[in-house]
Amino acid sequence: MIKDDCIFCKIIKGDIPSRTLYEDDSYKVIMDIEPADKGHALILPKDHYADLYEIPEDLAAGATKLAKKLITEFTTKLNCDGYNILQNNKEAAGQTVSHYHVHLIPRYADGQKLFRYEHLKLTSEEMDEIEGKIKK
Ligand code: 5GP
Ligand code: ZN
Repeated sequence: MIKDDCIFCKIIKGDIPSRTLYEDDSYKVIMDIEPADKGHALILPKDHYADLYEIPEDLAAGATKLAKKLITEFTTKLNCDGYNILQNNKEAAGQTVSHYHVHLIPRYADGQKLFRYEHLKLTSEEMDEIEGKIKK
């Protein structure tokens, strides 16, 4: 299932070149064109789904299994010190390409520190209200 105007679908079809690190029937793993750090890769399911809301559960689970396998191997090969696994959903969360993908970002002890954010100081009442909304 391919979407004609999707850049990642074009990469999967081979219409746009990419540095492909791994491929099987369901996934293609490419190097990110503007890496957050050396070795930044993206797991792309070959079928087009916009995000985690849309992708079938087993395909998302398979991407996570593949992430575990690949970062284990890449950590040795890159001699990195850790990994961020990042997956953005919708523009408000920073998603710029609407084809589900998982970022594998190697981290180096002496590298830049990414993914810092300002921690909010919420009141106990505010925390109660939010907890009440999402608690199962
Ligand atoms: P998002 O912001 O949607 O979570 O991540 C999209 C990622 O795709 C970005 O890190 C961006 O650098 C990468 N990207 C965008 N266009 C291309 C491309 O044409 N080729 C490759 N290899 N990566 C791309
Ligand atoms: Zn696509």
